[in-house]
Amino acid sequence: MAGATTKRDLRTGRSLWADSPGLGVRTRPLTQAIAVDVAIVGAGISGAFMAHELARDHSVAVLDRRPPLMGSTIASTALLQWEIDLPLNALAERIGTAKARRAYLRSRAAVEALERIVSDEGIRCGLKPKRTLYLAGDDYGRRALEAEAEARAAIGLESRFVPPAELRDRFDMARTGAILSEGSASGDPARLAAGLLRRAGENGARIHSPVEVLEAVGDPEGVTLLTDAGHAVRARTVVFCCGYEFPKGVPTPGAKVISTWAMASRPRMRCPAWLRDTLVWEASDPYLYFRMGATGG
Ligand SMILES: Cc1cc2nc3c(=O)[nH]c(=O)nc-3n(C[C@H](O)[C@H](O)[C@H](O)COP(=O)(O)OP(=O)(O)OC[C@H]3O[C@@H](n4cnc5c(N)ncnc54)[C@H](O)[C@@H]3O)c2cc1C
Repeated sequence: MAGATTKRDLRTGRSLWADSPGLGVRTRPLTQAIAVDVAIVGAGISGAFMAHELARDHSVAVLDRRPPLMGSTIASTALLQWEIDLPLNALAERIGTAKARRAYLRSRAAVEALERIVSDEGIRCGLKPKRTLYLAGDDYGRRALEAEAEARAAIGLESRFVPPAELRDRFDMARTGAILSEGSASGDPARLAAGLLRRAGENGARIHSPVEVLEAVGDPEGVTLLTDAGHAVRARTVVFCCGYEFPKGVPTPGAKVISTWAMASRPRMRCPAWLRDTLVWEASDPYLYFRMGATGG
């Protein structure tokens, strides 16, 4: 079994994706006050998608207190799953069936859209389609997963229940069942974000770094961002893509940062062939997940 691909290389202390080729993104300091249609705070994967989309029709400035990609994007284990942590049936109990179905279908559509953007833009980020194996665990056992697979299939999602015998024979796993789903993916998030930011730059977006946004002050016409560069950024709209950090003045009700750990095995460790195209996770809290890296380890 492969270890999860990674947050950090334990020997060097560097984030794994930091060694990816093609991470160069042109940045500039903020040397004067500017006014734009849209200011995006954060140059990680979220800010990159926003900039890529919005720079086509708007003037865009992206601001980051670090170099681009160096927030949580560089630490992601790069599972691109449409499955949400809360199963469809559990989500339906919480927010109602129609909304839960919509959330799942939109999540599925988001992975497809991401694949389309990568292909249309010719971004080389090792994006590969993957299936997922969601193992029965402490939170949801066999019966819950059977019902879950049925609920997903009923709205056209490509999920089916895998009984314990098949799980053992095909995947060498001893659990009371699992859900096998198609349509997820994995890829290098840093190269993807860098590619999107470069395309946004070609469409006129400017990436200012290092610039810290200290405060956001809203008024009826827009927002003024106060920065540590001593120059303000005036925008009609601000999109906060700050990952796990938020500037003063941005409400974060209910937000709580907890911990996640990732480990990597040595490259080229022997792994079962099915793991090449399968992401594995479990219905437990906390849960483990693992996948194989592009080089096989
Ligand atoms: C160990 C680990 C594993 C993960 N694995 C997965 C996974 O497998 N699949 C998955 O989908 N997700 C995973 N995630 C979550 C994923 O990494 C994040 O959801 C994603 O990177 C968020 O991207 P972002 O662009 O929103 O934020 P970030 O990449 O964190 O970017 C935010 C940026 O905002 C900047 N910023 C913040 N505040 C300010 C400010 N005041 N002024 C200026 N700049 C500011 C930061 O410097 C940073 O560069 C994982 C996360 C971790 C930590």
